Amino acid sequence: MNEELKERVRNQFSGIAQDYLDSPLFSQGDDLTHLVDAAQLSGNEHVLDVGCGAGHTAIALARRAASCVGMDLTESMVAIAERYALEVGVANVEFCVGDAENLVWPDETFDVVACRYAVHHFADPRRFIEEAARVLKPGGCLLISDHYAAEDPVLDTYVNHLNRLRDPSHVREPRRSEYRSWFVSAGLAYDEVVTWDLMLDFDDWVARSRTPRDVREELVRLLQQPPSGAEERQHIEIDVMGGQPRSFSLTCALFSGRKSITP
Ligand code: SAM
Repeated sequence: MNEELKERVRNQFSGIAQDYLDSPLFSQGDDLTHLVDAAQLSGNEHVLDVGCGAGHTAIALARRAASCVGMDLTESMVAIAERYALEVGVANVEFCVGDAENLVWPDETFDVVACRYAVHHFADPRRFIEEAARVLKPGGCLLISDHYAAEDPVLDTYVNHLNRLRDPSHVREPRRSEYRSWFVSAGLAYDEVVTWDLMLDFDDWVARSRTPRDVREELVRLLQQPPSGAEERQHIEIDVMGGQPRSFSLTCALFSGRKSITP
């Protein structure tokens, strides 16, 4: 099953790496600044960025660190990230193909492990968090930035269903409570650095994922009829005009997990 999910990721992202490189959602934004700031880099650190996509986060981190490795399951993402790093003249970043759930580095290799907008594609996010904790040096920090599910089961199912319909490689966005328990059981001190609502333009959202027309229509129908009380519960805000959804929000957080200095 896990292999099947990973094949779905490769299929989804292989032909659209350039779109991710060009998308302002990934190339800029306060969330990227928050993540880089939270890494508290002084220039001596070795950083790993997991699910690096077109390389925006890895390159931003490399500019403030001694080195950064960007790793991704999708070969074409890695190729485009390598080209982009050359273009912008950042030489202390390298990219490789790999799997978040089986990190190939020895224990205690990195000062910071980052992962931005990727965990919701992982078949086993808990295993990724354990792996990240293993490759972190004592005192190092895991930073995960992503949308998360509501604690309310109806809303959790609704938002995850929307995301999975639009992009079959979306596995599941976990709840904050799940992140907390996975961090703690991996030996990481859990913190939420910042939370925000990510406003997504509906047309741009479905265009980037190449969502077929019939699925798009189903998404429109679902956004027209959110579960009752959804907006009051403040987990999703949907802007509908003339019956058509124009934009909607996903609730996001930057989670930080510091590894203890003492074993
Ligand atoms: N982090 C990127 C950034 O900040 O621009 C964007 C990430 S993109 C939305 C999600 C990425 O996760 C895709 O490139 C996909 O190939 C990668 N991915 C999905 N599952 C993965 C896994 N198990 N291991 C590594 N990368 C994975």
